[in-house]
Amino acid sequence: SLTTLPADQLAERLTALRADYEDLRAKSLKLDLTRGKPGADQLDLSEGLLGLPTSHKDRSGTDVRNYGGLEGLAEMREIFADLLGVDAGDVIAGGNSSLTMMYQVVTWLLSHGGPDSPRPWSQEETVKFVCPVPGYDRHFTMLAELGIEMVTVPMHEDGPDVAAVRALVADDAQVKGMWLVPTYANPTGAVTSTEVAAELMAMPTAAPDFRILWDNAYAVHHLTDVETKSADALGLASASGHPNRPIMFASTSKITFAGAGVAALAASTDNTAWYLKRLSYAAIGPDKVNQLRHVEFFGDADGVRAHMRKHRDLIAPKFSAVQDALGARLDGLGIATWSKPIGGYFVDLNVLDGTASRVVQLAKEAGIALTPAGSAFPHSNDPDDRNIRLAPTFPSLGEVETAMAGVAVCVELAAVESLAAG
Ligand code: PMP
Repeated sequence: SLTTLPADQLAERLTALRADYEDLRAKSLKLDLTRGKPGADQLDLSEGLLGLPTSHKDRSGTDVRNYGGLEGLAEMREIFADLLGVDAGDVIAGGNSSLTMMYQVVTWLLSHGGPDSPRPWSQEETVKFVCPVPGYDRHFTMLAELGIEMVTVPMHEDGPDVAAVRALVADDAQVKGMWLVPTYANPTGAVTSTEVAAELMAMPTAAPDFRILWDNAYAVHHLTDVETKSADALGLASASGHPNRPIMFASTSKITFAGAGVAALAASTDNTAWYLKRLSYAAIGPDKVNQLRHVEFFGDADGVRAHMRKHRDLIAPKFSAVQDALGARLDGLGIATWSKPIGGYFVDLNVLDGTASRVVQLAKEAGIALTPAGSAFPHSNDPDDRNIRLAPTFPSLGEVETAMAGVAVCVELAAVESLAAG
């Protein structure tokens, strides 16, 4: 381990690493591992959508080109219901972005309160959310934008730290909600177990209108042949007497076209009625043409599953390349750990405490763009300055290999610099 190396050997290592880093810079790379976007080859898998729909009518005979049908096409809702393990009647199929649906829910909770709120959340002195970290940066920037305070809890391999969550929600009625990416979490890849989910749905909360925003963005995004099933959030919540607690979100953004997919929300009858009521003032209906296009393209949920295996075949090698590059350089050095996800879009890298920003800077100067250090924390504040989110799907396999070999050099150089400086 580098952390126990004597000073003279550290100094030698530093000299060698500086030479490696200069070699890296000399390559004048221009590579980008910042955002979890599908690669063009992944988007090509859905090219068939562009020739659809062939029909103007949905199953009930409605002309999808016209206004109406706020809750979305029944057949689209059925596909989401099957994939998410919920009843089709509890699903609303919407526009192209689940993030927009989340934003609507949070803003409408602020402006109107939910079906079980004593008053609109905006009338509370303070509104707080529990945020498992590391987490999805856009969840946090959304809350910051809306003036909601964020309180962090650790994200473990089986989901958020339940004891920490319980302690936060039990007595403080200002804690109104919580984010959770239950399956193949962004960025850790963690899968929330049924046990953890059951506790979260059942735990006592001081706020009577506590919400868990259950963002199942990666429900079907398996990287191996293990097709992990998500915990049954709505069923567990009903069974424990808190049917309105979870609001589930998903989309086909990373199934078909990231910018032109279909999003969905699933929740209790009270919650979906509340959402549709608010939505009725904002829209006359969703893009049903796009929904029908997706329905024709997939046929059913099994069509989606088969399609996801094609994605897996394209991106699993990139995730393996990340593991290989990090392992080849950093295994056994005691300066970094990283996730080995079996689904989702990210690898979560933890470097020597206090060096993540330096790693990102070194990578940048070598032409490798990484997500800014701290991004996976509220207000970009990683108290240990050690977390870096890696997103390998967008670049080509060759680019991932080159970029990650470079990142590994930067991780080691930053660690040795820090250790040598004492
Ligand atoms: N949730 C999570 C956890 C994500 O990682 C992403 C995409 N990066 C989204 C939501 C965005 O979804 P959409 O495209 O449906 O808005």
